[in-house]
Amino acid sequence: MTTKLNQLVHELTRPHAATIIRDDGSKTFTTEASLLNQLREAVKGSGGRGASGANSAPIPINPAAHDLYQRISYKAQQLKAAHKGITTGTLESIIQAWSLALTNDHDITQAARTVEHWNTQIRALLDPPKTIELKISCPQCGARQVINAEGEINLAVTIQNLTAQCAVCLTQWEGEQLWYLKEATDYEPADTNKTTQL
Ligand SMILES: [Zn+2]
Repeated sequence: MTTKLNQLVHELTRPHAATIIRDDGSKTFTTEASLLNQLREAVKGSGGRGASGANSAPIPINPAAHDLYQRISYKAQQLKAAHKGITTGTLESIIQAWSLALTNDHDITQAARTVEHWNTQIRALLDPPKTIELKISCPQCGARQVINAEGEINLAVTIQNLTAQCAVCLTQWEGEQLWYLKEATDYEPADTNKTTQL
């Protein structure tokens, strides 16, 4: 159990080995920065600031990353206060010292859950699940394209995290049902550009 917590804290606070899986299925092994470091970079944003005037207060470019970082920092300060032995200052060193200070299995399990939750949230923020548009009409309501209030046109049926959904009738397909959607593409008439207003 300690091993799991160690591994999670390692990924959160230190550069670590990572595997990049490309779209063609090939794998590359690399070293990536600690998740906290990546989160810090996400808070700052990578590009230059817009020309909004030199006097404007710096606002975080990525508010979601900023919020998450604040929440982890706040929790770390609580942990530091609760464990008298922790005297170090950086967020990384507080989390490392805390994880090493835990002695009983219950605390270690709880800690692993907390850190796993942080890591998952950071990863989701850094690399949000991709949405893929399916080139089909919805088998349920027949919608092919949708136009939103901003006038953007997208395909109605999209898939994210192995769940497909129609933006018009909100029908969802997952698991085996995805094969049904794939079959539907084979019967697709060529001239469907019907657009439904959302
Ligand atoms: Zn539909």
